Amino acid sequence: MSPARRPARASDVSSARRRAPRIQLAYSIPVPLRHGVASVEIRVSTRRRKSSQAHLEAGKVVVVVPGHLSVAEREEVAARLALRMLDHSARRAVGSDRELEARARELADTYLDGVRPTSVRFVTNQARRWGSCTPSAGTIRLSSRLRSVPPWVLDAVMVHELAHLLEPSHSARFKALCARYPRHAEADAYLLGFEHGASTAGMPLGPLPAEGWSSDDVEEPAPDLR
Ligand SMILES: [Zn+2]
Repeated sequence: MSPARRPARASDVSSARRRAPRIQLAYSIPVPLRHGVASVEIRVSTRRRKSSQAHLEAGKVVVVVPGHLSVAEREEVAARLALRMLDHSARRAVGSDRELEARARELADTYLDGVRPTSVRFVTNQARRWGSCTPSAGTIRLSSRLRSVPPWVLDAVMVHELAHLLEPSHSARFKALCARYPRHAEADAYLLGFEHGASTAGMPLGPLPAEGWSSDDVEEPAPDLR
C-alpha cells in the first residue's frame, strides 16, 4: 500500500510532467500462471527509452514499456516481468521454508506443547491434499497452493499436521489437539470453499477425499520387507 500522496503544488506539476512517462497506448493481456490467469496491463511510453518496468497498482501488474518495441516484444517482456513480480510477491507474502519452520515452532509452542517437526516445506506435487505428515520422520509438507490463502488458514493446516506428530490417527485425541487452534473449523470451511471455487473455475484438483481434505494425510514409510 503506497502512502497517500500530498496534493500537488504548481511547482510540482512541471517536474512531475517531466518525470512521468507519457503513455501513448495502454491495454491488458492475459498471462497464464501455474494456477490461473493474470490480467497484465501494458503501457507503451514515449518517454521510456531503454528498460521496461513492472509495478503493482491496486493488486494488478502494470508493465511500462518503451515505444520502440514491437507488439510481440512488449508482450513477451510484459509476461516475463509480470511472472517474476507475481512469483516474488507470492514468496514474500507467505515466506520462505525457513519462515515456515519458524511459524511452525511458534504454533507448536502456543498450541501443541512445543512439539518439533524435523522439516516443514512447501511442495508442488500435492494437488489433492493441503498438507501431509510423516510422524516417524517428523516431516511436514504443505501444498504450494496454500501460498495464496490467508495466514490464519495456513496456520490451521500447519496445526493439523503438527498435531499428527503427537497423534498420527484422526482420533478424538487428535481432534481435541486441533481444536486448540481457535479458527480451526473456520479454516476447514475456507478450504472447502477454496476447493469448490478452484474446481468450478476450471482448475480441477482431482477427486476430493470422501472424508474431507484431511482424511489421508498421514504417510509412513513402506514397511521394510527384508
Ligand atoms: Zn490429518
